[in-house]
Amino acid sequence: MGILLKAKMIAKKTIERMETGSAIRKMFDEGLSMKAEHGAEHVADLSLGNPEFAPPKAFLEALRRAASEPTPHGYMPNAGYPHVREAIAGYLNRHGYFENAEARHVLMTTGAAGAINVVLKTILDPGDEVIVLRPYFVEYRFYIDNHGGQMALVDTNEDFSLDVEAVAAAVTRRTKAVMLNAPNNPSGRVYDRASLEALAEMLLRKAHEHGRAIALISDEPYRELLFDDTAFVSPATVYPNSFMCYSWSKSFNIAGERIGYVAVNPAAMGEDRDALLDALAMTNRTLGFVNAPALMQRAVAEAVEAEVETGHYAAKREKLCAALDESGYTYVKPEGAFYIFPQTLGPEEAFIRRAREHLLLVVPGSAFGRPGHFRLSFACDDRTVALACEKLRAVAGDYHRERAQVEPVPRGAFAHKAPSPEAGTKGHDASR
Ligand code: PLP
Repeated sequence: MGILLKAKMIAKKTIERMETGSAIRKMFDEGLSMKAEHGAEHVADLSLGNPEFAPPKAFLEALRRAASEPTPHGYMPNAGYPHVREAIAGYLNRHGYFENAEARHVLMTTGAAGAINVVLKTILDPGDEVIVLRPYFVEYRFYIDNHGGQMALVDTNEDFSLDVEAVAAAVTRRTKAVMLNAPNNPSGRVYDRASLEALAEMLLRKAHEHGRAIALISDEPYRELLFDDTAFVSPATVYPNSFMCYSWSKSFNIAGERIGYVAVNPAAMGEDRDALLDALAMTNRTLGFVNAPALMQRAVAEAVEAEVETGHYAAKREKLCAALDESGYTYVKPEGAFYIFPQTLGPEEAFIRRAREHLLLVVPGSAFGRPGHFRLSFACDDRTVALACEKLRAVAGDYHRERAQVEPVPRGAFAHKAPSPEAGTKGHDASR
C-alpha cells in the first residue's frame, strides 16, 4: 500500500533521485547510527563539509543590530536590498575582482546553491549541455537536471588541474555553460591564471564558431579558504560571460542561514546585459526564493570585510597530510577548501568498508565522479582530526599487512612516501 501510494504521489524522477541520492547524506545517517552504537568519541566522522565553528564577531554583531531594528521585514526587490547589492559591488571592486561592478550586477540569493540554480534556470533551454569537471560537487547533477539541462562530464588532469583541451573537445553546438568550482570540492584544487585564460580564449573561440554564447559559471564558496601562498583567481573575472556564484556558508560558517549572491561580470552579454540582469531577478522570484533572507542580507553587507579564519584549517590539513604521508597514501595536497581527496588503497568499496570497520567515515570518490578515491573533510574539531589520523594509519596498516602476506615486502617499502604536488590520479588503476 505504502509503495503503491509512493509510486502514485511522488514523481518518478524524485524517487529516482532519492534512490541514487546523495552518498554524503547517506554517510551522515550512517555516522549518526555509528555514533549511537559505539559512542561519538570513538568515531572519526570526516564525511561532511559542515563547519560548526563560530562566525566572525563582526557578522554576529551586525546580525544583532539588524535583528534589533523594528523594520524592515517585508518584501524587497527580488534581486535584494539595493544598499546590500551596492555594498557587495563595492567589495568586488575594492578587492580587484571587477573594476566597475555596480549594484545592478549583483543578485542576492539563498546561498551558492540558490545562486547556481537561478543562473541555470535563467540560461538553460531543454537539452542544453553544461560541462562539469570531474571530480565535481555531487549536487550539480541535480541542479542541472532541475532546469532541463544535460551534464557533460570532462576529466581534469591527474593533479586535478584544468585540462583545457579536454574541455574544448567536449564543447558542442548544444553547450550552454561550463561550470567551474575552485577551490574545488572535493580536491581542494585552485586553477591558475594561465589555464583560466587559455580556457577563456577557447570558449570565446568556440562560441564564435558555433554562433552561440557560452556562459561560465564559477562556483566559489571556498575562495577565502586558501593555504600556503596560493593565489585565488576567480574564473568569473577572466571570461566576460561569467556568473560568479558565492556564499558565506563556508567563509563565515553560516551554511544554515542561506545567504549568497550571483555577480554577473560587468562585461557580460554586451548590450543584452540589462535583459540578463532582469531575467535573473525574475528567476529568483519565480523559482520560489522570492528574495534572499532579509536579515542575513543586512548582516553580511555590514560585515562584508570581516576577516575569514583559515589558520585552524591549515593546521588540520598539515596533521592529516602527515598521517597520509606516513602511511603511504597517494594524494594531491589541497591548495584550498577543507577537503583532501586521496586514492583508496584498494578497490573503493572495500576500502570504504574497511575504513568504516575502523569507525572512520569518509565519502567514496565515485560520489564525485572519480572512483578510486575518498574524500576527507577537515571541517571538524581537532580531536576528530587526531582520531582520524590514527584510523588512517590503522586502515593502511591492514592493507600493508595483507599485501605482505601475499608477497613478502622488503623492509621500509611502505615508509614515508610524500607525493609531489604534481602527483596525480588519472591514468592510475582506480580499482587498485
Ligand atoms: N558548491 C559547492 C562546491 C559546495 O561544496 C557547496 C556546499 O557544500 C555548495 C555549492 C552549496 O553552498 P551553499 O550552502 O552556500 O548553498
